[in-house]
Amino acid sequence: MGNFELYNTLTRTQEPLRPVDPSRVTVYTCGPTVYGAAHIGNFRSFIAEDALVRALRYLGHGVYRVMNITDVGHLVGDGDEGEDKMAVGARREGKTAWEVAAHYTQVFLQDMETLNLERPDSLVKATDTIAEQITFIQDLEAKGHTYVTSDGVYFDSTSISDYGKLARLDAQSLQAGARVEIGEKRSLTDFALWKFSTTPGERHMEWESPWGLGFPGWHIECSAIIAKSIGETVDIHCGGQDHIAVHHTDEIAQSEARHGVELARHWMHVAFLTVDGGKMSKSLQNDYTIAQLQGRGIDPLAFKLFTYGTHYRSPINFTWEAVEAAQSRLKRWRERYQAAPEGVAPELLLGLQERLSDDLDLPGLLALIDTNQDAPKSFWEQVEGVLALGITASTQVPSAVTALANAREVARQAGNWTESDRLRAEIAAAGFEVRDTASGFELFAR
Ligand code: AMP
Ligand code: ZN
Repeated sequence: MGNFELYNTLTRTQEPLRPVDPSRVTVYTCGPTVYGAAHIGNFRSFIAEDALVRALRYLGHGVYRVMNITDVGHLVGDGDEGEDKMAVGARREGKTAWEVAAHYTQVFLQDMETLNLERPDSLVKATDTIAEQITFIQDLEAKGHTYVTSDGVYFDSTSISDYGKLARLDAQSLQAGARVEIGEKRSLTDFALWKFSTTPGERHMEWESPWGLGFPGWHIECSAIIAKSIGETVDIHCGGQDHIAVHHTDEIAQSEARHGVELARHWMHVAFLTVDGGKMSKSLQNDYTIAQLQGRGIDPLAFKLFTYGTHYRSPINFTWEAVEAAQSRLKRWRERYQAAPEGVAPELLLGLQERLSDDLDLPGLLALIDTNQDAPKSFWEQVEGVLALGITASTQVPSAVTALANAREVARQAGNWTESDRLRAEIAAAGFEVRDTASGFELFAR
């Protein structure tokens, strides 16, 4: 087992991993808000998180990864104002929020497969844990951390001494400098745990609660899911950089107030992807989806390689030229693998371990690959296990494996994910990995 080190946003230093249970590193990822298709910025984060999990496994760690699907409660505004994003999606498409959530969850899972991203061990919908979220809020209430206004139940951020420690927020100066309308909130940094339905019966998602009909705030879902699926402390909590100041800050506040122990040992945050040097936006129509990349002739795995070229803590700028260059690089790598000699290269394997262990230094790994033109097949195969770029595609697939893959495709088309996952595992046990493409699937030797 290597000495894996990861930068920790909480301490602002690179630290050795110190899992609660060394035989099983627990990882929690804030998942997508399923009111539309995830864009390439979202996928930059999900790709980096997948590489983290694969690297940990490669280095000999057992990993248990949980991801949520946000299908309720994520409001348009970060300050508990505005509509639920799901309601916006529902209006846009003339469907119910439930239909929108079901559809974009499938699109997300399909995009994950297309990008060769592992399905987390547990994928939990926020709407499947409403009872746990209500219990969580009741516990906070019993401990005196909440208050009720005319529009919801709020967490009192002044009821804990270290609010804002992740983002190093100075609550006092925040309050003093605040020019925003905080309504009935007592402090700017207080946040909604439960929101009341404004027009009961007309919303598409609402539940009975001890405080009345309503729906949960966004942050509480992650805290409740972690508590339920992992426990009081998760080893590595991941997300995009935009989550530091509010979402993760509030997850910490409520979880630590309830449990009295640290929510996460390591906080991993992925820096932003920009497009043509700026923020992605609907109005500029540059919030590209994976399907749009494919429509422009880009292999989604080339996009994946493009993101690996910049360390996850540095911003990355998407341009079509850059992703096309990554596509050429990937083609060269696939050719190099086909022509690679047999044999082993211990020093290259050591280099691979070192790069991964050094805060997931994938740009360093890419450089190692490009400066060792005669790397043997065995090295490429190890690289493939971590980067999952479809480099080592095999043409000799046993017919039994193809049959399994065909059966899986049928299950997948029918939306039978349990069966398709079971078949994927069977294919994996036979030494192959199935990857979905626009026209069906491809099989690769693992
Ligand atoms: P959301 O669907 O908004 O909940 O976001 C899903 C994930 O994508 C979160 O971890 C976000 O922090 C992350 N994210 C959102 N926009 C970007 C971006 N432009 N670059 C990188 N990560 C992002
Ligand atoms: Zn979260």
